[in-house]
Amino acid sequence: MDDKKDLTKLLSKLKTFIEPDSSLEQYPTDPTTAANILWEAFMNDEIEHHLIADFGAGTGILGIGALAMGAEQVIFIEIDPRVFPILMENLYILEKETKQTFSNYKIIEGNVEAYDQPVEVVLQNPPFGTRKNHIDTTFLKKAIMLAPTVYTLHKTSTIDHVKDKATEYGGTVAEEKTLEMPLKNTMPQHIKDVEKIEVTLLKITS
Ligand code: SAH
Repeated sequence: MDDKKDLTKLLSKLKTFIEPDSSLEQYPTDPTTAANILWEAFMNDEIEHHLIADFGAGTGILGIGALAMGAEQVIFIEIDPRVFPILMENLYILEKETKQTFSNYKIIEGNVEAYDQPVEVVLQNPPFGTRKNHIDTTFLKKAIMLAPTVYTLHKTSTIDHVKDKATEYGGTVAEEKTLEMPLKNTMPQHIKDVEKIEVTLLKITS
């Protein structure tokens, strides 16, 4: 994968949640935003040959992108096993599209809160904490604890709080980028078909 356009094209072929569970805030990262995150990390030399964890992996767009960009290994951690058939299908799409086989990944069913294996980089679009209070900062705390480099996506409206928490957990905000992310109408409480929300990508080092 040698440019961001090819990466976006690959990611746009992946399947997403069929019946998203709103209590788990199953909102997928769209292909353009995912490619932005991955390209940033790739250009910083933090994907290729690195051990990466995808926290709250869902249907796997971030981890699959990392595999496509030459990660040494990707660990997908997800609490909801209902999404695993879609994640497996997406790994198959990755193989078909890149004409490569991948066995350098692990899929772990479980709560990020209970995960305890150090990695080099965490990529995450965590639940924003609108349904379960503080789940966003719970993900953040765990990520900073287990990885020296974390790429994490948050609602821009909460970013000051998230940055304060990152510092409290021993992290340093090394980069900050605001992006517009389309949120498709997949859940009954949404009114418009596609709503755009402002999100901020943080790179946190520790
Ligand atoms: N990473 C995916 C999904 C983001 S949505 C993407 O970027 O498209 C957030 C995901 O976190 C959902 O799949 C949800 O099921 C999962 N999740 C929520 N709480 C979790 C927890 N405590 N531990 C692990 N996964 C969790």
